[in-house]
Amino acid sequence: MNLSATPDGNTENKSRLDYDAIIIGAGVAGLYQLYCLRKLGLKVRTFEAGSGVGGTWYWNRYPGARFDSESWTYGYSFSQELLDEWDWKENFSSQPENERYLNFVADKFELREHIQFNSTVVSAHYHDGAHSWEVTLDNGSRYVARFLITAIGILSAPTMPTIPGISSFKGESFHTYHWPKKEVDFSGKRVGIIGTGATAVQAVQEIAKNVGHLSIFQRNPNWCAPLKNSEISEEEMCSIRSRYSEIFARCRETPGCYIHSADPRKTLETPPDQRLEFWEELYESPGFGIWQGNFVDMLTDREANRAASDFIASKIRQRVNDPVVAEKLIPKNHGFGTRRVPLETQYYEVFNQKNVELVDINETPIRTITTDGIRTSEREYECDIVIYATGFDAITGSFDRIDIRGIDGVKLKDVWHDGPQTYLGILVESFPNMLMAMGPHSGLGNYTRTAEYSVEWITGLIQYAGAHGLTRFTATNQGVKEWTDYVLGLGKDLLMNEIGSWMTGVNKNVKGKHAPRIMRYSGGHPAFRKHCDAIAAEGYSSLAWAGLPQDHGE
Ligand code: NAP
Repeated sequence: MNLSATPDGNTENKSRLDYDAIIIGAGVAGLYQLYCLRKLGLKVRTFEAGSGVGGTWYWNRYPGARFDSESWTYGYSFSQELLDEWDWKENFSSQPENERYLNFVADKFELREHIQFNSTVVSAHYHDGAHSWEVTLDNGSRYVARFLITAIGILSAPTMPTIPGISSFKGESFHTYHWPKKEVDFSGKRVGIIGTGATAVQAVQEIAKNVGHLSIFQRNPNWCAPLKNSEISEEEMCSIRSRYSEIFARCRETPGCYIHSADPRKTLETPPDQRLEFWEELYESPGFGIWQGNFVDMLTDREANRAASDFIASKIRQRVNDPVVAEKLIPKNHGFGTRRVPLETQYYEVFNQKNVELVDINETPIRTITTDGIRTSEREYECDIVIYATGFDAITGSFDRIDIRGIDGVKLKDVWHDGPQTYLGILVESFPNMLMAMGPHSGLGNYTRTAEYSVEWITGLIQYAGAHGLTRFTATNQGVKEWTDYVLGLGKDLLMNEIGSWMTGVNKNVKGKHAPRIMRYSGGHPAFRKHCDAIAAEGYSSLAWAGLPQDHGE
């Protein structure tokens, strides 16, 4: 299938195509998108800001970074050969291994030659006369393609705090996302870490093993639960391999595409001894079971959620020796599971170490970063290393950083000023031929499982356009309005959408992103797929279609 791309090279003539499709990002979604479009025979270029593939698993090299989903649910499922050839070594695989895996994929499917590394896309402008997108890189070079696919991740726009003095610090300092490739030596060092989200939890428990002194600056604590990671023996890997189709089928059935799904019992209708027994079992089990496999009303019923939170609080009190510190580690402004649950290995025990201290910055706010460390309203904490585990401008932040313009130059950032408006989380009105792999208001969850679906749906749509000689498709105003209203309605009564977190688009370091919004489709991935599949089966008739005149001069 050739949608008439011409040979490589920049062009002033916007009716000439350099590529059939441009993909932004060579992470989990982008790599698979490249594979699928190459398989269709399209001329495709991927632009990637990093110097290697992997996206999240390329950038986040901080100590302790690893999957929180079972490795064998998180790998790609599209190739039997790949499943046969790759052995996972741990049930929750670590960043170096995950990066190796994604490199293995890139090499196996000969994707690398189609990826241009160290290339940040700064703008993408649509030209309606030519039904094409013109993409500009940070080095000024420009490329034109029929289709633009954003595979830019949901947690890829890291944010620094707005504390004064950050640049004056004379020791080493890093945001966890921009962790250096070289090993950072913590031995004997005084380390300060700001933030206590899932990233900090993973980093803290690793850094604490080998540090002079560690100060953890906490604004809001999060509810954490045990990861229970373990190695995978050769025999276990054989067994997993023989069960892959079962595992992926199970993931397809659950709302978040994890292997875990809610227990049908209601919390308070379950006798207290059985409830406790169930929670104890979940607490001792690996992975997200305690979050995704808890009682069915845990995330919708306030009393049920309070009871589950009380259980986790009792565990924190048991594990942290100092009762004052334990109380500080127990969240008071949100219930268990209403923010993304960090999974941990001996995180709470870290606070029993003599060389670790928790600094509650609600009591003593950080005033400045000094040349020597972190100064709160109370005192200065001298540091050799300062770590910013301060999170991301999530979901829409990676879009906001690119100057994306649709018909008549309309800016995506302006269209989404009051919150994302999409069709299926994949298309946006006035932005023809732009497709978002894992956009806002789409079915998110276990990233690889959900990304594979998004990518396959996008591929199907592009294939349909080629087969029918159509060169332009766009979401309609009605389609966008209906989908957006539907997503907002679904998310209305969820406790998760009441609290500020990256999942509700809140980032206090970013102007205009201080109040929770419904950013994710919450109807469960099976229903999401049913919806999207039906649209494909109807020949995508809910989109507006057009073709260029034959003599368009390409
Ligand atoms: P996060 O959950 O947004 O946490 C950021 C932390 O930084 C919060 O504790 C926040 O405090 C704090 N913070 C931000 N700005 C601050 C400031 N100016 N002063 C003081 N504290 C500040 O970000 P994250 O920990 O990077 O995790 C984001 C998501 O990435 C996770 O929820 C997860 O989905 C994903 N992740 C996945 C894995 C995995 O799969 N294995 C691992 C790590 C992360 P407040 O809460 O008070 O705002």
